[in-house]
Amino acid sequence: MFEQARLLEKALKLLARYPLCDYCLGRQFARLAQGMSNKQRGAALKTVLAMEADASASLGDERGFDELRILAENGGLHQAKLILARRKGIKVETTPCHICGGLLSEERFNKLAERILEELREYEFGSFLLGASIPPDVREREDRIRSEFGITSGEDIKNDITREVGKIIQSSTNAKVSYDMPDITVIIDFFNDRFEIKSNPLFIRGSYLKHRRDLPQAVWHCRRCWGRGCPSCNYTGKEYETSVSELIGIPATSYAEALDYKFHAAGREDVDALVEGTGRPFILELKSPRRRFLDFSELERLINEHAAGAVEVRGLKRASRKEVRELKAMSPHASKTYVAEVEFDSDIDDRKLREVEERFRNIVIEQRTPTRVLARRADKLRHKTLYELRAEQKSAREVVFTIRAQGGMYIKELIDGDGGRTKPNIAEALGAKPQKISLSVVAVEA
Ligand SMILES: [Zn+2]
Ligand SMILES: [Zn+2]
Repeated sequence: MFEQARLLEKALKLLARYPLCDYCLGRQFARLAQGMSNKQRGAALKTVLAMEADASASLGDERGFDELRILAENGGLHQAKLILARRKGIKVETTPCHICGGLLSEERFNKLAERILEELREYEFGSFLLGASIPPDVREREDRIRSEFGITSGEDIKNDITREVGKIIQSSTNAKVSYDMPDITVIIDFFNDRFEIKSNPLFIRGSYLKHRRDLPQAVWHCRRCWGRGCPSCNYTGKEYETSVSELIGIPATSYAEALDYKFHAAGREDVDALVEGTGRPFILELKSPRRRFLDFSELERLINEHAAGAVEVRGLKRASRKEVRELKAMSPHASKTYVAEVEFDSDIDDRKLREVEERFRNIVIEQRTPTRVLARRADKLRHKTLYELRAEQKSAREVVFTIRAQGGMYIKELIDGDGGRTKPNIAEALGAKPQKISLSVVAVEA
């Protein structure tokens, strides 16, 4: 009883000093009676106060009329206005809410929610999250009241906005509220009657095969103009007309009606290396997609058709942002299997090939940065493990090597030795010089 009296006393003191709407009064006591809206809390407090005031006014207590006047003027309570008009013949005008200026109202929440829903119709989504930006002057007014009255049971005004608008959106879309991975984020600037919809990226994972040489994984900018466009690149800005990422990313972007894409892969192969076998894992990040419930086998067909045999994707499915980090972390540790067809300058004998197979099993290869990439990368020493090597003679001078090695090993240099910069190397072990090397990646394993 004591607590209840103090609560009502506090509510009345607040109203006597500041005009407050139901939302803004109720919000000061949001931690009490959870499961109610602030509007219900504020209205309930005002109702009980009016009943008490009416009771004392009926006994002729003038303080009852004073309290009714506060409730009518600063609380906007209709019943209090009626009693005052009937008993005292006074007409009282309501002062707008000190904190929100009277903007928090069911009507405005409904109108805004309708506009948001209208715009959300353009998007496919299964989950959403609402945020709200609050003007500093609104916050300041509320903070001042809280410190003046020592209020500790309140909540942030943001919650009123996101709760009320969220209820309407949830009930008319079947979408769920998600705090960590929402498909859609809506930021509401309620006081300026604006909102912003953000469609969060869609991640799709799969693996790709590359059946054509001279195809880089990522866009390779023209060496002369660095992408601006010049006569030497035919004003394309590119060194190669297309890339694996474009062949996969462009059709997927248009299929999901996204704005842009980003291609993440588990390592990369050389421009002239093929990727066969189980392929190389990748994750495609589609930015601001409008479509999200995709038919992945249809998308797979679209990409493969568009790539016309140069690239092929498999096993497309939905992924998460977390998997992008895992994919990137995995590439240095992943083992990769390569097939290298090598033509030597002299005949190779089978006994030597068997020796090489024996020697190059589970050994650490030391590699200085290859001469061919020294212009672009720092010269440093790497240690990579070669797990296994199989050699198959194709003709007197031609050998097909199947090599399983740790990610990041330079395979061409493992074969030709790069002038002694890679040790040990196959050329030295065989005592023959490679004339031609064609390389394919056949598998990437985690
Ligand atoms: Zn208010
Ligand atoms: Zn150029």
